[in-house]
Amino acid sequence: MFAYHGETMGTTWSVRIAAPSGGISQPIGAGIQSALDRVVTQMSHWDQASDLCRFNRVRSDAWQSLPIEFFTVLEAALAVAHESEGAFDPALGALVDLWGFGPAGTRAAPPAPDAIAQARDGLGWRAIAIDRRGLRARHDGSATLDFSGIAKGFGVDQVADYLIGQGILHFLVEVGGELRGCGLKPDGQPWWVDLEAPPGITLPVNRVALHQLSVATSGDYRRHFEHEGARYAHSIDPRTGWPVNAGMASVTVLHPSCMMADAYATALTVLGLDQGCALAERLDIAAILVARGDKGAREWLSPAAMRMLD
Ligand code: AMP
Ligand code: MG
Repeated sequence: MFAYHGETMGTTWSVRIAAPSGGISQPIGAGIQSALDRVVTQMSHWDQASDLCRFNRVRSDAWQSLPIEFFTVLEAALAVAHESEGAFDPALGALVDLWGFGPAGTRAAPPAPDAIAQARDGLGWRAIAIDRRGLRARHDGSATLDFSGIAKGFGVDQVADYLIGQGILHFLVEVGGELRGCGLKPDGQPWWVDLEAPPGITLPVNRVALHQLSVATSGDYRRHFEHEGARYAHSIDPRTGWPVNAGMASVTVLHPSCMMADAYATALTVLGLDQGCALAERLDIAAILVARGDKGAREWLSPAAMRMLD
């Protein structure tokens, strides 16, 4: 077994490879890092030089050419925005920033209501049009893309594609807790992972075999601040402009594409238990939703997740 690790997107990555007995001759660690660096160079909203920041800065509705990877993520993000009726919104950057979860810096108390109203003023994802044949997109001059809800998963997919391109077919990739497994471990077993409950919640551990499968988790415990006894988490409900308050402790999604798992996990977190379950059932998403309640935590497995965990 070969192990590699490094840093990207403000978090860490790790890769385990079950290699043939001859070992690995290529400089795989450097190749993985450059696959991830490419995602950051294109899609980081923390780096003013990224393609995404350049796209955001244009204050007109001119078409802008995008690199293929950026276009791929934008198209997927808009599809999930559509499916979730805007609960997932990749053009929410101004609100995320305002609430202190973006490059503008952290905050200790909620913003003023008129500042929230102003940041919500734009059309969000509806302001963005894409042209697949031309690999171009445009917005009405008001959109601020923020791919934090989907980019880690895409980074995992990019690393997986890179490894497969190198002829490596048995691996487990992880970026900031999002995972994708391919092939088998050296002992012939699939890559089993334990899906752990959020801190402070005791639930039976779900084990899943990541056989050509990805898993992504969103949780209110991951990034939040507290003010006067209330908890403000980094998932923002575009419908209210406020951090979600639906009592979701964590949402885990299983999907062949880690990008889609990541986006759906964020979408279901924003939708909350009732609407989230309904969407997961309708789209046949394999999801595990954990909600906080007065009588302790409740876990709900979508029908697709039940089939997978059997
Ligand atoms: P995740 O950890 O994948 O759920 O992503 C959370 C991050 O996505 C936040 O830190 C924000 O930058 C961004 N985000 C927050 N709310 C939304 C939303 N409703 N739709 C899409 N991205 C969001
Ligand atoms: Mg996500």
